[in-house]
Amino acid sequence: MSSTRSSSNRRRLFPVPILADNYVWLWARGGHCLIVDPGEAAPVLARLDAEGLEAVAILLTHHHADHIAGAEDIRKATGAAVYGPRDPRIACVQHEVTGGDRIRLPALELDLEVLALPGHTRTHVGYFGSGVLFCGDTLFSLGCGRIFEGSAEALHASLERLAKLPGETLVCPAHEYTLANAAFALTIEPDNPGLRSRAAEAERLREAGLPTLPSTIARERQTNPFLRCREPAVKRAVGLADGDPVAVFAALRAAKDRFPSALRSPPRMP
Ligand SMILES: [Zn+2]
Repeated sequence: MSSTRSSSNRRRLFPVPILADNYVWLWARGGHCLIVDPGEAAPVLARLDAEGLEAVAILLTHHHADHIAGAEDIRKATGAAVYGPRDPRIACVQHEVTGGDRIRLPALELDLEVLALPGHTRTHVGYFGSGVLFCGDTLFSLGCGRIFEGSAEALHASLERLAKLPGETLVCPAHEYTLANAAFALTIEPDNPGLRSRAAEAERLREAGLPTLPSTIARERQTNPFLRCREPAVKRAVGLADGDPVAVFAALRAAKDRFPSALRSPPRMP
């Protein structure tokens, strides 16, 4: 598990595994925490209870059920305030947010920036602050979300935005997809040493029942093909040696959509 420190009180950042391969991120300071994308309530409420934590905020990145279905029950049980994008498909949001907004959570000593991240869905947002990024289904370790609404151009621009965040930023995506993504990424850049060691590390972590996340922006820049659309090796791998980054990204995303996904159900964390 990773943790960050504030001046007076240790912050703890950890994922609660739910459903097949989702993570609900909890970020705690003292006895308070925020919760990101609770697709289920019961495992999250059990963890709050076990850790003695009081939820002060629920942050939602996009409308898919595996990210929001538990939010209303957690709100009712805890009184936590629900933040999410302006989208009629997310009925439980109390505080609608849009790119550029800031969310202040004094109990956690946090000031988060809302990032507009369209591409996976039209209204997808991310949350960034104090060295941590919650990016939902936009950026995964070694991969990115599928394009359900919008365009390759939009998702590429969202990923470029994230790639410009400080390298040490902890990246907290909503799914444990690293092993399956590594299998695909290695077909694109088999000779990338950072990618090879990341794939080996992810295998060890999953065998031990541990999460491969959070990652960092620096590591994703080095290893994630979807952030490397300007690299000659990546361009050549999709047959677009002279292609512009958006065309390379679209070709990569299409190739990943066709890629066998036999590895997509890694063992659950304990
Ligand atoms: Zn989604």
